[in-house]
Amino acid sequence: MSALSDEVARRRTFAIISHPDAGKTTLTEKLLLFGGAIQLAGTVKGKKASRHATSDWMALEQQRGISVTTSVMQFPYRERIVNLLDTPGHEDFSEDTYRTLTAVDSALMVIDAAKGVEPRTIKLMEVTRLRDTPIVTFVNKLDRESRPSLDLLDEIENVLGLSCAPITWPVGMGRDFKGVYHLLEDRFYLYTGPKDRVSDIETVDGLHAPGLAERLGRPYQTLLEEIELVQMAGTPFDMEQYRQAKLTPVFFGSAISNFGVRELLNGFVDWAPPPQPRESSVRPIKPSDERFSGFVFKIQANMDPKHRDRIAFLRVCSGVYTRGMNLHSVRVGSNVRISNALTFMASDRDVVEQAYPGDIIGLHNHGTISIGDSFTEGEDLVFSGIPNFAPELFRRVVLRDPLKSKQLNKGLDQLCEEGATQVYRPVSNNDIVLGAVGVLQFDVVQYRLKDEYGVDCVFEPAAISTARWVSCPDEKKFREFREKNELRIAADHQGALVYLASSPVNLAMTQERFPDIAFDDTREHS
Ligand code: GDP
Repeated sequence: MSALSDEVARRRTFAIISHPDAGKTTLTEKLLLFGGAIQLAGTVKGKKASRHATSDWMALEQQRGISVTTSVMQFPYRERIVNLLDTPGHEDFSEDTYRTLTAVDSALMVIDAAKGVEPRTIKLMEVTRLRDTPIVTFVNKLDRESRPSLDLLDEIENVLGLSCAPITWPVGMGRDFKGVYHLLEDRFYLYTGPKDRVSDIETVDGLHAPGLAERLGRPYQTLLEEIELVQMAGTPFDMEQYRQAKLTPVFFGSAISNFGVRELLNGFVDWAPPPQPRESSVRPIKPSDERFSGFVFKIQANMDPKHRDRIAFLRVCSGVYTRGMNLHSVRVGSNVRISNALTFMASDRDVVEQAYPGDIIGLHNHGTISIGDSFTEGEDLVFSGIPNFAPELFRRVVLRDPLKSKQLNKGLDQLCEEGATQVYRPVSNNDIVLGAVGVLQFDVVQYRLKDEYGVDCVFEPAAISTARWVSCPDEKKFREFREKNELRIAADHQGALVYLASSPVNLAMTQERFPDIAFDDTREHS
């Protein structure tokens, strides 16, 4: 094997999907701890700060709890290099969250054992379906009163349509939580200390090892009954089905006490796919292709107050990035020399010397890089699968100074290209409507319009509940549809037409009335 295929084979690039408060931040800390990336848990920034009116950018950043260091975390584990991409989840939930999921090869789903499958998880799962991304599941907070494990697996199967193959199984829960039993290893991992803190773990081999019944009591009897059921009627782990995103291996544990996390991480690095080939306008691009290629999935602005720069996050898809190389921006059609790309080793922003497929590098961006841009060593290929997602929140822009309309439009176009928001211009009037999936996106846009473009504006609620990109191969039918729905049709910033539905019912009825029209909830960048 060449050095490149070796590097590809050892990489694992993933993101965590979860509902807020399920334990993503806590689990991330513990994973970094195992990776040796941090000495003590507790250094991953919390995201709990409440949101206030924005007075300045730094305050906004602090409220978001974001920083470049938590956007991408790279750490070594065993013989692997793991890249964990952060999916903003609380107030900072945004289209970036969705797009990050287009840049990973697999995902880790965290479920709160008391709450089960929650709405945000369902939404994020839908995004992973676009690329059939394999999912490993961690059921968290077993140290609290939880729902019965079998019910949770049923819910994952029914609500998310994924078969569940339990890999570990909890012994008791809440105050009686004693540890987990590993079905594949036939081994118990048991607490030796208090459950709300990281404690030592004792292992005992064999489901029926002597002394367990006395030591573990009632939870052990329950475990035996449940394991019997699982072994008789449950789904065994199947690598192929996991890789096809039809089956998820399930681990149980407690992130806060670091229990069950190592078993999770071991399973994860063993099974999760290495960097996968990626569709492009020319052909599928294999990671082992010697020539460099990659695409931009996220642009983050003004993270460093001293530099006010924007960083474009690029996922390497093939070849090797080496410092100082010339990269070809396919959209702009010119070469740029990249001498100071950033890498994301754990907690430092370092200048990267080399990056391989699956790695993320940060490019300094002065307004010439857009979301979805492909970079190569010269070939004109465009990666697909980094779409815009239909927004669910809408605001009408009211400009305070009408003379600033040119700056407003320029600012909005730029912010759109960076993926900060989406802009819709209704065909029947001069309104400007902004769309987002997370409410903080509006604050960011309002702040940046003022700060960077000198435009003062306010946003008003708009009576729109969702948007769909519309198209139809039959010109005549499409025209008829547009004429009949003129008041609800708008153009996005690239000129593509969208239908702005006033309610889910309105959308459903319109779809029914116009069966020949395609209503898409994602749109590829053109
Ligand atoms: P996130 O919103 O998904 O990032 O969740 P956090 O990691 O911030 O966790 C949300 C809350 O749940 C915090 O108060 C954590 O301390 C708590 N938490 C996380 N994991 C566990 C766990 O395993 N057991 C218990 N009891 N609490 C947990």
